[in-house]
Amino acid sequence: MIRMKKTKIVATLGPASSSAEELERMMKAGMNVARLNFSHGEHENYGKVIQIIRDLDVKLNIHTAILADLQGPKIRTDVMAGEGALLKTGDVVEISTNSVEGTAKRFSTNYQSFAQDVKKGEQILLDDGKIHLEVESTNGKDLVKAKISHGGLLTSRKGINLPNTAISLPCLTTKDLADLDYALSQDVDWIGLSFVRNSSDIKELRNIINSQSKHARIVAKIEKPEAVEDIDAIIKATDAIMVARGDLGVEIPMQNVPLVQKMLAKKCIKSAKPCIVATQMMESMIDNITPTRAEVNDVANAVMDGADAVMLSGETSVGKHPHLVIEAMSSIVVQAETHDSIYNHEEAPVKSAEARFITDSVCYNAVRLGQRVGAQAIITMSHSGYTGIKVASQRPNSDIFVFTGNRKILTLMSLVWGVRAFYYNKMVSTDHTIADIKYILKKWDMVKEDDFIINIASMPIGEMGMSNMVKLSKA
Ligand code: PEP
Repeated sequence: MIRMKKTKIVATLGPASSSAEELERMMKAGMNVARLNFSHGEHENYGKVIQIIRDLDVKLNIHTAILADLQGPKIRTDVMAGEGALLKTGDVVEISTNSVEGTAKRFSTNYQSFAQDVKKGEQILLDDGKIHLEVESTNGKDLVKAKISHGGLLTSRKGINLPNTAISLPCLTTKDLADLDYALSQDVDWIGLSFVRNSSDIKELRNIINSQSKHARIVAKIEKPEAVEDIDAIIKATDAIMVARGDLGVEIPMQNVPLVQKMLAKKCIKSAKPCIVATQMMESMIDNITPTRAEVNDVANAVMDGADAVMLSGETSVGKHPHLVIEAMSSIVVQAETHDSIYNHEEAPVKSAEARFITDSVCYNAVRLGQRVGAQAIITMSHSGYTGIKVASQRPNSDIFVFTGNRKILTLMSLVWGVRAFYYNKMVSTDHTIADIKYILKKWDMVKEDDFIINIASMPIGEMGMSNMVKLSKA
């Protein structure tokens, strides 16, 4: 039996990875989630690529999740004259909200309430933090004067980060709302929400998804200091998080990012919410055919931190060798997963009157039992995927198989650590289902005759109630 990797791989798609041939190679190499970055590209092209993925899923008998990542309130500079302008340390530059062709004296931004929101002394970081400015004054209307504390060449349409400013832009911009409508019309599995500041941002998105009766779940991208401060409420409100290290490392001191990553991964495991570690994981493979040793360590450390998934951005969207990156990442992940420290977290559910307490306790004890007997597989029958995610959060060494009659969660579960989901809709009786699933898993060579397996189900099965039963038997 081949041991499958448990940590999932999210790959961002782009011009380098839109053909059926390359996508097939990427899926075979271990891509579990395809990320569409709505900061770039056209709806029509996303539609084509989604169709290719769905056709390949059928061909390869796998369930690839689709993550539509909304741009959010990304603040940018406008166009600069010529090849850009050299901003000199010590000079003062004006930033206007009325569009001008930028020079070293004055450039403009797309952020209309910029002059109202910033205050004297606040930091303005340009181009991923390469250029540093400090607000000197604002007219409160349309013009800000800033001192250049660390200069550099500013070219067109570069990102602006304002780590100390309370930004008044909504979390979902007009562009995001149109992109969201499109993504929901395509029945994507996950929606990435950028620059989340607090839990109400997530509630707003959830209301829209619910109002359209869609199944998509939310990935809150953690890239603002406010989000780190409000993380407990955000984790409670969201379905998953992404450690978006690109912007996060500009918005907070970069040296703080590794500990924030560990803290987020730990909190997510405790709350059973998937955590994606993102950005620059295999950056050198945009050009090269092997990663740097530091990148290998970064991916392995994310696995050991407890990430559910590791993500690729430019490496697969515009890089030279998308499927080679995924092959390399898969091999690093599989090796890191031989380390005992990532398995069997012992966070027992707190006794409570909550409706899920019975299910949570069943999942917890199924994993403990699996650990004790060395079970090959823990199998859940699930409609919402809840038990699969709960079992995964205990990080069992056993395989986790979710059998479901709900086709919508088949792809959705591909983001969750260790989980593989299968369609199953027979509801004769609990005994019959357990016997039938054993037969299927043996036929697929996923368990062997003498293996211990654990089943989690709800009895009586026809009522589709909460999981209340755990059974240990031989396959
Ligand atoms: C990031 O900033 O790390 C990130 C993933 O965001 P995006 O690629 O959407 O800018």
